[in-house]
Amino acid sequence: MAHDPECIFCKIDRGEIPSEKLYEDDKVFVIADINPAAPVHLLIIPHEHTPTLLDLEDDQHDIIGHVFKVAAKLAKQKQVAEQGFKVLHNVNHWGGQRVFHIHFHLLGGRKFGE
Ligand code: 5GP
Ligand code: ZN
Repeated sequence: MAHDPECIFCKIDRGEIPSEKLYEDDKVFVIADINPAAPVHLLIIPHEHTPTLLDLEDDQHDIIGHVFKVAAKLAKQKQVAEQGFKVLHNVNHWGGQRVFHIHFHLLGGRKFGE
């Protein structure tokens, strides 16, 4: 499915809900999380509407490699790369997924796990 008219990330992608795109290419766009869990909290979001990782077709998994490439680039740009950062992906309710359009969290700028 290219876009879901009711989906919040599809609406942001189309400019129907204002949110500054910090990066964009033909496959993904990036916005700052509205409720940041770290000094740097970005969302890397494929343009293509796919509800969860489980819905990705076999020929669509290349997007994940691309997301990690963009994550590395943005972590460097935001100057959190050397100290360290996280890329998180939540799947379904027990995995903490609240927006059902796949996206990857880039978190940095603080120390995690202590
Ligand atoms: P999930 O829990 O699905 O992995 O993550 C969804 C993320 O989207 C949450 O961290 C939440 O703060 C963020 N979010 C939800 N609605 C909006 C919005 O309208 N704009 C932005 N920038 N982030 C949002
Ligand atoms: Zn969507």
